[in-house]
Amino acid sequence: MSWDRVERLLGKDVLAHLRTRTVGIVGLGSGGSFVAVSLAMSGVGHFILVDNDVLELGNVVRHAADARYVGQPKVEAVADLIKRRNPSAEVKTVVGRIEDHLDLLKDMDVIVAGVDGEGPKYVINQVAMEHNRTAVFAGVYERGEGGDVCVIHPVEGPCYACWAEHLREGLSDLAHDDEELDYGMIGPDGTLAAEPGLWLHVVRVASVQADLALNHLLLDTEAYRKMPGNTVVMANTHLEIYEGRVALPYTAEWVSVPRNPECLVCSHVHQQAGERVDEVSLSDLATLGNVTLEQEEDD
Ligand SMILES: [Zn+2]
Repeated sequence: MSWDRVERLLGKDVLAHLRTRTVGIVGLGSGGSFVAVSLAMSGVGHFILVDNDVLELGNVVRHAADARYVGQPKVEAVADLIKRRNPSAEVKTVVGRIEDHLDLLKDMDVIVAGVDGEGPKYVINQVAMEHNRTAVFAGVYERGEGGDVCVIHPVEGPCYACWAEHLREGLSDLAHDDEELDYGMIGPDGTLAAEPGLWLHVVRVASVQADLALNHLLLDTEAYRKMPGNTVVMANTHLEIYEGRVALPYTAEWVSVPRNPECLVCSHVHQQAGERVDEVSLSDLATLGNVTLEQEEDD
């Protein structure tokens, strides 16, 4: 396989860097399978795929894997697709749930949440926070009319729980001027309901999710791009993103959802991070200060 064109675009060093990076994809449905194959085609070298489902005939019209893979675990089907694009990629597959395989987190440089339901997204949020990992979440709106992608960092910015809660409250601080974000698709429990959309509309959102995961893998390289917010909201059709203002098809808006200082999930993590910093400073002081000098005198 020739990577000449990707190398010409990204540069030799950046491509070499990507080959050392590991993406963890949790959930290998329409979106997750598309993200996996796309990242393989962009030069990412290591994959950890986690999903407990088997590919069924009904999945095939909205999945990267076709009818040849029916009856196989989705992780195995997608691993094969990755290998066909990039035979040198290393792929670890896990038929199961991420919460039963927490040891895998330490090897993931970024987590892609490929799950549909809000419940599984909260689980990924929890484990990503606890293991200090950045995660990229995506949601597709009713009938594929649009979707959003957010990049959630463990200490900086909101966690997914704060982020979703903010949406429930109407995203009022995010609105431009007096406008309010209109999330008419929010379910009675306050969360965005997972909705089926056409493959075309799902992959437009998944493509941005893959690109933002790739961008995180490029951190510390010249190819890394700083984004204008932590969330991008995309319209696929005419979509009222802000109340009273209809976004045109294929447009997108960036927003920055703030952290909720009282969030039960990430306040706990922030507190622990603060404690870890304190410990480091104390031990640094001990090493640099009197303790070391006294030890030297004892010797
Ligand atoms: Zn939070």
